[in-house]
Amino acid sequence: MYINEDLCIACRSCVPYCPVGAIRVEEPDRVYIDQEHCTECGTCLRMARCPSDALVEPAEVYQEPRSVRKFFSDPMATHKETLLPGRGTEEVKTNDVTARVKRGQVGIAIEMGRPVLGTTMAEVEKVIKRLAALGIRLEKNNPLSYLVDDPETGTLKPWAKKERVISCIIEFSVPAERLRELLTAIRELAEEVDTVFSLDLITRFDEEGNIPVIPILEEMGIHYRPNAKINLGLGRPLREE
Ligand code: SF4
Ligand code: SF4
Repeated sequence: MYINEDLCIACRSCVPYCPVGAIRVEEPDRVYIDQEHCTECGTCLRMARCPSDALVEPAEVYQEPRSVRKFFSDPMATHKETLLPGRGTEEVKTNDVTARVKRGQVGIAIEMGRPVLGTTMAEVEKVIKRLAALGIRLEKNNPLSYLVDDPETGTLKPWAKKERVISCIIEFSVPAERLRELLTAIRELAEEVDTVFSLDLITRFDEEGNIPVIPILEEMGIHYRPNAKINLGLGRPLREE
């Protein structure tokens, strides 16, 4: 996004709408968008009702590399790889039909970045490289998979690394017996990445109706909040477990 400074009257109406503080004011009367920080989320254009139509979204935001920002940051944009809006993934919400996470596995989602702070793809790459070294491959129906250049090392495509997004989700599954190992690695990564992330564990109830990952979280001193993200009855499972 940029501001056509010939049209802008510096009313500043758009400034508070930017979730990452990319709309800058230069006293006394210049308002502009910091292109490095803009995530192309489109919020200013949709919400600020610019009185002089000075906010401009150029076509290049839908082309690489800028499209990385757009597709991971604008909830109205549809990822061209997965054809899903938002962050481009159904996460595990459709697991009852897609069986992404099978019995005996734990699904792990690392939600990198949030409004205000965001994240760069270089930070996302740090996490994916560490996971690759542990033999982890990303969920293939996640748009980040399309940005991975080398699955063996976890490096991203060079043109994507400098892009900044509001947030994106790294998703994968591991055998349940590897959970401690992965949680240890993710804890170490928390010290290394220059952004915030939320950690989601996706699991099924065991035969007794218990959530099997809870004892491991308690043993490791990790605070947890049980939650449900399920759409029961969407249809017949596509795959046998
Ligand atoms: S709302 Fe429009 S006119 Fe007002 S500061 Fe923003 S771009 Fe300029
Ligand atoms: S497109 Fe989003 S990130 Fe960029 S200036 Fe507008 S509100 Fe801020």
